[in-house]
This record gives sequence, C-alpha cells and structure tokens, in this order.
Amino acid sequence: MPELPEVEVIVRELRQTVMNEEITDIKVLWKKSLVRHHDHQPVFAEIKDIRRYGKFIILQVGHVFLLVHLRMSGKLIVHQGGPFSRKHLRVYITFRSGKSLLFYDPRKFGRMYLTADAQQFLSPLGMDALDPGFSGREFARLLAGKNSRIKSFLLDQHHLAGLGNIYTDECLYRAGVHPQTRISNLSEREVALLFRAIKKTLQGAIEHMGTTLADYRTAEGKKGRHQRFLKVYDREQKPCFRCKNPVEKKWINGRGTHFCPVCQPLKGKS
Ligand SMILES: [Zn+2]
Repeated sequence: MPELPEVEVIVRELRQTVMNEEITDIKVLWKKSLVRHHDHQPVFAEIKDIRRYGKFIILQVGHVFLLVHLRMSGKLIVHQGGPFSRKHLRVYITFRSGKSLLFYDPRKFGRMYLTADAQQFLSPLGMDALDPGFSGREFARLLAGKNSRIKSFLLDQHHLAGLGNIYTDECLYRAGVHPQTRISNLSEREVALLFRAIKKTLQGAIEHMGTTLADYRTAEGKKGRHQRFLKVYDREQKPCFRCKNPVEKKWINGRGTHFCPVCQPLKGKS
C-alpha cells in the first residue's frame, strides 16, 4: 500500500511528465473510482500544479482539483502514447499531446476526487510528516497528554499525515520503541529518537523510489527498491539486524506488526 514516500516519488515523476499538459478527455471505466464534487464537467484544462499532502496526490486542473488516493493497490501511470493494457484500468485521462494518465486499481479501493475545494479533504489531516515545520518540538507537542499506543497514534492521519503500516514499523524499530508502548510511557529521549527515525526512514525510502512488495509502481511504471533495505517489516522470523534474535509479527488492531522483542521491549504497564 503506497505511503508518503511512494506518493512523493509518483508526484515528482508526474511533475516532470504531465505538468502543463492539457486534458482533452477523462474516461471512467469503473464508476466508483472517480467521485465528482464538482458541477462543471467535463474538466478540460491544463494541469497547473502537482503536489502531495500526506498520501494524497493533488493535481490542480484549471480552477479545480483532481485528488488521487491510491489506497491498497492504486497505480497512476503516465503513458507516452500507443496501446496500453486495459486490465484493472479504472480511469484514463487523455492529454492534447497524445500522452495519457492511467489509473489502474485491481482492488478498487483507490479514489480520484474531482473538486473545487481540495481543503475539505486536506484540512482534517494532521501535519505532513515531511513538512519542514514538523519539528522535534512539534512532535513532542502532538504527543503531550496522549495515552494511546504509539503505533495506532502514528497510523492515524489526523495526527500526522503520511505514515502507513510499513514505515510505522520501520520507524519504531529504528527508534527501539515497542509498537504497543503507551505514549505516556515514552521518555523524552525516545520521542526524540522516534522523531529522527520518522524523517530518516521516509527520506531514505524516497531515495530508493519507494517500497514495492506487491502493486506499487512509480508513475513511470518502475518498481521501488526500498524493499531491499527494510529493517523489520516483512522480516518475520528472520534474525534482527542488531541482536540476531528472530523478528516477531503480531496482529495488532488488524495490522500485521513487525518488531524485535529484544531491541524494542515493551516498557511500563500496558
Ligand atoms: Zn533485535
């Protein structure tokens, strides 16, 4: 499932390939994949801006916005022309230049939202995890007075936008914090370590073009490389890189959670 790094890689490639392209047609092959919050249709205009917030891809098309959330298995692929596969293709957007933007989504949970008001989707979200304004102090402020378990807190996009299951496990491992630790049991040092782990983990994953364990592809259709660098996620029963004890996988709140029970001991009463 694409998280902040994968979405960032896609956005960077889209900026290089479809910025200023003029949309001439939008075809919806699976109705639910495109949600219209906008009356003026069809939207045939130039793409003026492409950016990311959390896991949202935001394309400004003339005066409206096309927001894309890839969810479980969505892929947004730029096609340079000629025939393309229709398998799992849900929406395709044609540009005047002959290029097209293809939205594939085998599991159909991904959504494109056409809206005049992007903020209705973005304002409920917490700060973006790579926002320069997201500082160690800001992170400590977010955690102050909270008592939920740290992994569920980090996964909640209303607190901090961008982290999903893979990178949350990676960050907690890097900081030596057990995923079920209550926030009130975290020391100041652990909060600082976790903050640095979040920034480093996300930046490292972007440098490796994201993590491809299944469906994720960049906008150019390439696989990411970060799966080769994962420290704990998808490494159940394999030796921990630090202590050599086997990595554990537990189902916590319906999420497969990977951690090292030795390097990430559960502190305090849970
Ligand atoms: Zn270990």
